[in-house]
Amino acid sequence: MEWNRSEILALAAHNCTRCHGVGSSIGKRGRSVTCTCVHRAVFRACYERFRRCAEKEKALTKCTLDLPSGNTRRYSWGRKDEEYIADFCLVSRRYLDQDEYRVFRFHYLLGADWKLCTRQLKIEKGDFFHMLYRIQQRLGRVFRELKPFALYPLDEYFASTGRMELEELRSPEAERVVALYQKAEGRPLVPPMRQAA
Ligand SMILES: [Zn+2]
Repeated sequence: MEWNRSEILALAAHNCTRCHGVGSSIGKRGRSVTCTCVHRAVFRACYERFRRCAEKEKALTKCTLDLPSGNTRRYSWGRKDEEYIADFCLVSRRYLDQDEYRVFRFHYLLGADWKLCTRQLKIEKGDFFHMLYRIQQRLGRVFRELKPFALYPLDEYFASTGRMELEELRSPEAERVVALYQKAEGRPLVPPMRQAA
């Protein structure tokens, strides 16, 4: 997914000392580089949506029929909110190193504040906040640039279909992650796949 100029400008922090609100700067090779404040803004938007999805009652989430896309001719049933929760968690796990993921999990997934995180993870306050910056920057960029289906822009994500193979959504890890946030109510995570007529 390519960044576009107006998107970068809209996301840039006006008080950023690196880009001064422009959202990009000239890199070492003379090419325009998207500023980290833009990546962090993407992360915040995705995290905010993640929290909203995770806090919703399971009964309230919508079940939608996804049309076939790409090479597949299969129709499938999906729940966008659950898919998004699983995507958010699985992508984060994949793109963070072990130490970053520990902090990410404690702070962003389990909701521990900085005092609890630094005590439990035995890290200094300064190191903790530096790591949060790194996590936000790295994940914000990944969420926007991920191929073939980016998590951001969120409206495109929630409007598109076939982002993740349903088999992957059924993986124990994805199920555990979703179960962590939403109480199981005896319903399967993803209804059985249906063949196109
Ligand atoms: Zn900036």
